[in-house]
Amino acid sequence: MVKRYYCDFCDNSYPYSTEAFRKHRTGHHHIKLRNSHYDKFKNARDRLKDELTKEKCRRFLSGQDCSFGEGCIFSHLTPPGTQALQQQALEEEEQERWTRLPAALREGREVSVEAWLTQRRVPLTSDTLPGPPLHTLPPLNTPLPPTLASAPNLPPSLAPTTLESWLGVEFAQWG
Ligand SMILES: [Zn+2]
Ligand SMILES: [Zn+2]
Repeated sequence: MVKRYYCDFCDNSYPYSTEAFRKHRTGHHHIKLRNSHYDKFKNARDRLKDELTKEKCRRFLSGQDCSFGEGCIFSHLTPPGTQALQQQALEEEEQERWTRLPAALREGREVSVEAWLTQRRVPLTSDTLPGPPLHTLPPLNTPLPPTLASAPNLPPSLAPTTLESWLGVEFAQWG
């Protein structure tokens, strides 16, 4: 069975041999179709540059039909066509600049650290704190029963906690 080579650009297949492959790849028809495929992905600025480096197709630009059509090696770009392509290139570049801007600028929002902080600031209420709501937490000090309140030298476990009592704690060394 003869292997066949399928060319995507030409949408056609050929009996495969190194020689046939080389010949096909360098053939005029293949190159034309390959270029027109890649031209579809070019932006307006590049297409304009390509067109301006070509010589003008006298036949087409004098109002006659050019049988080569889009595959003509000469430029078919008319002066209005050039203007349209220039306009398109400008629009594409403007669009590109726009998409590179930070989202806030594109949406017309204020861009400043202060604006960002205001937006980020979460009001500090018991609803936004992790854990049980504040009102369900036990009070820091359970009031002493009246009989103990006046007793001198309460053992530390019964004495009301104060900030000073915490700061003065001496930690025992173990082990
Ligand atoms: Zn081909
Ligand atoms: Zn032409």
